Amino acid sequence: MASKDFYTVLGISRNASADDIKKAYRKLAMQYHPDRNPGDKAAEAQFKLINEAYEVLGDPQKRQVYDSGGGSGFFEGFDGGFARGGANFGDVFSEVLNEFFGGGSSGGRQQGEHILRQVELSFEEAALGKEISIKLARWETCAPCSGNGSKNGKSVTVCSSCRGTGFIRIQQGFFHVQKTCGTCGGEGRMITEICPNCSGKGRISVDRTITRSIPAGVQTGMRVRISGEGHAGVSGGPPGDLYLDVVVKPHQVFTREGDDLVIEKNLTLTQAIFGSTLEIPTLGGSYAMKVDPGTQPGTVRRVRGKGIANPQTRGLGDLVVRFNVEIPTRLSREQREALERFAEVSGESQENPAGGDGGLFSKVKSIFE
Ligand SMILES: [Zn+2]
Ligand SMILES: [Zn+2]
Repeated sequence: MASKDFYTVLGISRNASADDIKKAYRKLAMQYHPDRNPGDKAAEAQFKLINEAYEVLGDPQKRQVYDSGGGSGFFEGFDGGFARGGANFGDVFSEVLNEFFGGGSSGGRQQGEHILRQVELSFEEAALGKEISIKLARWETCAPCSGNGSKNGKSVTVCSSCRGTGFIRIQQGFFHVQKTCGTCGGEGRMITEICPNCSGKGRISVDRTITRSIPAGVQTGMRVRISGEGHAGVSGGPPGDLYLDVVVKPHQVFTREGDDLVIEKNLTLTQAIFGSTLEIPTLGGSYAMKVDPGTQPGTVRRVRGKGIANPQTRGLGDLVVRFNVEIPTRLSREQREALERFAEVSGESQENPAGGDGGLFSKVKSIFE
C-alpha cells in the first residue's frame, strides 16, 4: 500500500498546531474541491487524499497513533471491501466546509448520519478475530408511515403553493426570481395528518444490538466500517454506516511489531550454555523451540508464519523470540563453589574477576603512560 505522509499532503510541519492543520486543510480542500475542478481526475484524487490526511491529523487521538507509527492506516471492513479513504470523506467534509459551500440539500433524499464507536479488544481478540456486540440507539425509518411522516403513510399531498416543485417564481420587473416555497419549506409536499408514531419526523429512535465479527489482525488506529448500520436515511435516502475505531489493550507477555508476534524469553545460564528445547507460548498454543548451545543474550529467532494475520492481505507475520540470559543474583554455597571451580578451570582468578579484560585494562593504561 503506497503510503503518503499526511503532513506532506497538507503541507505542514510535524509539530503544527490543531489550528494550523485545520487552516491548511480548508485552504487545500477549497483549492481541490470537485465543484471547482469539474472533470479533473487529478484534483479529485488530491481532494480525497487531503480529506484522508485531515481525518487522521484533525483528530488528536488518531494523530497521536499516526505519529507513533502505530496502525498502518484505516481499513474499512467486511461488507464494504477494503476501499481506503474516499468512501467516508463526506463526514469530515460536511463538518468543516459547510460554511463555505453551503451544506444540506433541503427537502430531498438524504443519507442517514454515520455512527462512530470505539471498541476495546484484548490482544488475543484483536489478533485472532472476535465477534462483538455493540449496543446503540439509532434513528430507524418509522414503520407505520414508511418514513414519510404522515398518518398511515397516506395523507401526503402535493403542495398547492408550489405544485410540488418546492420553489416559487416571482416576477420582478423583467426578472424572474426563484424563492424557496414558504408553505412547504421547499419540500414540495404537505402532510395533512401527522404520523403519531414519529410525530411526522419519519424516523424513530430504536435501541439496537449489532453483532459482527471483527476480522483477525486489527490493531489500534484501525477503523472498521459496517456499511448500512448507521442512522436511517431521510425521505428514502440510504442509511449511514457504523464505524468502529479499534483500541487494543497491551498484553503481559506478547507485543506486536507490524504483523510479527514478539516475545522476550529468559534463558538460565545453563540453558544458554548447553542449549535446550523450550515451549514458547504463541497465540492459542505453544511452539517447541530448540535453543542452540552457546546462545548469546540478545539473540533473535524468527519462526515464519506463526505471527498475526494481516486483515488486508491475509498474510501471516512471524513469531519473533528475543533471548535474554538471566545472570543469577543469589547463589547457594554449592552453586558458588561450582562457579568458583568453573572460574578456576577457566584460568580466571578472584583478584582479576574480569578475566580477559585484565589485558584490556593494561592496554588502556599503557596509552596514558
Ligand atoms: Zn410548496
Ligand atoms: Zn411515522
